[in-house]
Amino acid sequence: MVATVVYWFLLVYITTALVWWFIALQSKTHLISVHDMMALSPNDPSFLQKSKEITDEEKRKTAQYIGEGATFLVVILIGAVFVYRAVRKQLKMTQQQQNFMMAITHELKTPVAVAKLNLETLQKHKLEESQQQKLIQATLQEANRLNTLTNNILISSQLEGGAYIITKEDLDFSLLVSSCVKDFRRRFPQRKIADSIEDAVDMLGDALLLQILVNNLLENAIKYSPHESVIHISLIKTEDKALLKISDEGSGIPDKEKSKIFERFYRIGNEQVRKAKGTGLGLYLCKIIVADHNATISVTKNHPAGSIFAVNFHL
Ligand code: ADP
Repeated sequence: MVATVVYWFLLVYITTALVWWFIALQSKTHLISVHDMMALSPNDPSFLQKSKEITDEEKRKTAQYIGEGATFLVVILIGAVFVYRAVRKQLKMTQQQQNFMMAITHELKTPVAVAKLNLETLQKHKLEESQQQKLIQATLQEANRLNTLTNNILISSQLEGGAYIITKEDLDFSLLVSSCVKDFRRRFPQRKIADSIEDAVDMLGDALLLQILVNNLLENAIKYSPHESVIHISLIKTEDKALLKISDEGSGIPDKEKSKIFERFYRIGNEQVRKAKGTGLGLYLCKIIVADHNATISVTKNHPAGSIFAVNFHL
C-alpha cells in the first residue's frame, strides 16, 4: 500500500517536473528572443534578416525541447510500466506463497491427526472387523494424500533446481494408466471411474513422473466433482500420437482461469473460503512433466458440466 502511494507520487512528481522544466526553458528562450529583438536597430539594413534568424532560433530551441522532453517522458513511462509490472508480479507471487503456506500447514496437519486418531482407536478398542476396515481405509486414504502432497512438493522443487534426473525408459503407458486407475478405485471405492484404455500404448518416459501426472489429474477430477458423478479416463493411440483424457462432471474451470491454473501455487478462489484441499502444485507439476515428455496439456469444457483435461503425446 505504502509502496503504491510512493510509486504514484514519484511518477506524478517526475512527470510534472518534466513539464515544468519544459515551460521554464521555453519561457527563458522566449525572453532571450525578445531581448535580442529589442537589441536590434530598425535602421539596421539587415534588420529583417536578423529578426528572422532570432525567430528561427527560438523555433529550433522549442523543437529541441519538445524532442528531448518527449524522449525523456517515453523512457520514464517505459521504466514505470516495467517497475509496475515487476512489483505486481512479485506481490502476486508473495500472495500465492502465503496461500501455499496456509494450505500446506493444513494439508500436513490433517492427515497426521486423522491417522493418529484412527490408530489410537484401533489400539485402545476391540472393534468389529468391518469397523476396523473402515478406520484402516480412512487412514490409508490420508496416508495416500500425504504421499501425493510430499511427492508433488519434492519433485517440483527437484525438477526446478535440476536435482531430479529424468530417466526415460521404454514403458507400457497403458499398464501405467490402468494401475493408477486401479489404485484410485481402491482408494475411493464409492466413486465411479469409467475407463477406456487402449492396450499396449508404448512410449519413452519417466515412469515416476508419468504416474504423478496421471495421479494428479485423477485426484483433481475426484476432488472437484460431486461424489455421485462419474469420472472418465481414456487413452487412445493414433499413428504417432497418444491421447490421454480425463473428464469429470464437476464445477468446471472458467475461461479466464484456464491458463492460470497451470501456474505454481495457483488455486481458483480464496484460501479462506475454499473447501477442497490442495496446494496449487498439482497442475504446475503436470505442465512441467508434460513438457519433458514432448506432450501438451489442455483443458476444455465437458458437457453438460465439468472439465476435460487432455494430454497429447507426440510419440
Ligand atoms: P490443487 O488441486 O492442489 O489446488 P492444482 O494445481 O492441481 O492444485 O489445481 C489448481 C486449481 O485448478 C485448483 O485449485 C482448482 O481450483 C482448479 N482445478 C484443477 N482441476 C480441476 C477440475 N478437474 N475441476 C475444476 N477445477 C479444477
